[in-house]
Amino acid sequence: MPRDRVVIVGAGVAGLVSAFALAARGLDVTVLERGARPGGKMRQIAIGAAQIDSGPTVFTMRWVFDELFAAAGKNFSDIVRLRPLHVLARHAWDARTRLDLFADEARSVDAIGRFAGPSEAARYRVFCRDTKRVYDILEQPFLRAAQPSMSRLIGAHGFRGLTQLPYIKPFSSMWSALGQYFHDPRLRQLFGRYATYCGSSPYLAPATLMLVAHVEREGVWSIEGGMHGLAAALADCAEGSGATIRYEQDVSEVLVCHGRARGVRLASGEHLEADAVIMNADVAAVANGLFGSDAGRAAAVIPPHARSLSAMTWSLVASTDGFPLSRHGVFFSRDYRAEFDDIFRRGRMPVEPTVYVCAQDRDDDAVGDGEERLLVLVNAPPNGDRHSYDAAEVEQCAQRTFGVLERCGLRIRRRGEATRVTTPTDFNRLFPATGGALYGRSSHGWTASFKRPGARTRIPGLYLTGGSTHPGPGVPMAALSGRAAAASLLADLSSTGWSRRTAMRGGMSTR
Ligand SMILES: Cc1cc2nc3c(=O)[nH]c(=O)nc-3n(C[C@H](O)[C@H](O)[C@H](O)COP(=O)(O)OP(=O)(O)OC[C@H]3O[C@@H](n4cnc5c(N)ncnc54)[C@H](O)[C@@H]3O)c2cc1C
Repeated sequence: MPRDRVVIVGAGVAGLVSAFALAARGLDVTVLERGARPGGKMRQIAIGAAQIDSGPTVFTMRWVFDELFAAAGKNFSDIVRLRPLHVLARHAWDARTRLDLFADEARSVDAIGRFAGPSEAARYRVFCRDTKRVYDILEQPFLRAAQPSMSRLIGAHGFRGLTQLPYIKPFSSMWSALGQYFHDPRLRQLFGRYATYCGSSPYLAPATLMLVAHVEREGVWSIEGGMHGLAAALADCAEGSGATIRYEQDVSEVLVCHGRARGVRLASGEHLEADAVIMNADVAAVANGLFGSDAGRAAAVIPPHARSLSAMTWSLVASTDGFPLSRHGVFFSRDYRAEFDDIFRRGRMPVEPTVYVCAQDRDDDAVGDGEERLLVLVNAPPNGDRHSYDAAEVEQCAQRTFGVLERCGLRIRRRGEATRVTTPTDFNRLFPATGGALYGRSSHGWTASFKRPGARTRIPGLYLTGGSTHPGPGVPMAALSGRAAAASLLADLSSTGWSRRTAMRGGMSTR
């Protein structure tokens, strides 16, 4: 009996998760990846012998991977070595004003009490309770669902469904809701930053996104070998389960025949027949016809004004002094609203950015010796397809970014030959048709989360997965979408009985 054949376009985390899940179920899986390595945004940049994680660095929701590996009869922690971080992040406003958040809630309450007073600490406790409730309401009917649906969300909680809605606060902005919890503007700014994890502005995103604070409180881990190590482990496990991964393969078209996805065409001209195709490239690329006009019907175009954040990043090896870096550090701008107005309203790099620094050789407070590996990131407008960032603009942005760090006491001794910059233009080149937006559609307004496409498309046999689809961006969320795409495909396989032979009955276009 021939096995059902699935082609997966892209070896981002979602594509790899789909490949692993389907290969473990015995399907004939081929992953086609344009890059030379697995991971997509979970990429590393080499500077000399140092490999620098230059995409995601904050690993949360490990249960997603525990479940995934368990379903394939494996133990995640045997395969990927994780270390829990006690300090979630160190935040700074100037050279003297700092606040650590801890994995241990009681330590964070104490720290906030010392930082902003006992009333603020008490309000933080309420914030923790409420953000946990938002997460609990949404986990089953929304995060784990293959398609976003308001009626499922309400229905999942039975008669209580509608009464749960006010708790998730879809109609208030995150910024206004945070004002009810925190009277200290610095705390409002700190917790507002979680909107950016979904590529959004805290002034425009719904308060529902406060659940990210709960996710982070549940634990942040560092990964041996870096975040890219997770991608490599997923690729190994998918291959170990029988999947084939072919690198440096550029897919140019999803072949649709008699209304059904039947395979793909590569830029080299090669055709690959399949009974189903899972697309891990960005939804914007699909909707803009980069995989052909037939496949373009699978997703709605994301207009430029609805794009999520891009970034400008510096991957570097450098020595530092003046500030006790922890693994994750955030250095805040003095005018948060102006920062997001610059990005989303004026479409320009912020005059004064908030700066994230990942000190990758440190866990918690362990001090690096000599030079260390750093990723420095500021948010940027998703205009990489319309604006070219020349050397002068990049240097101006560097002055502003490293200037914020110096204002907070941190000196990083940049050496040109040990620094690689990635601009929105570069991100647009890596992820075409996005403008460099890294998180799909922004989560602005309460309907935005329902506009992300789910796994199934209107083209039978074509599934979407990745951080630009439901349930959203971030490594674990994209992994959930990869699992949802695999589950939807398997369910369709068993319910409609499509199989290799039925799929091939109409023959295949070989234009
Ligand atoms: C700078 C940065 C920082 C981030 N920080 C965090 C963080 O701290 N924590 C977190 O959880 N998340 C973070 N994220 C978000 C997270 O990285 C992403 O949401 C997630 O990795 C997206 O995975 P994905 O499955 O959508 O695939 P992607 O990573 O988008 O990969 C898609 C793959 O498809 C391939 N592809 C595209 N077109 C083709 C084609 N035509 N043919 C063949 N292959 C193709 C691409 O080469 C790519 O490998 C960050 C992202 C960036 C860029």
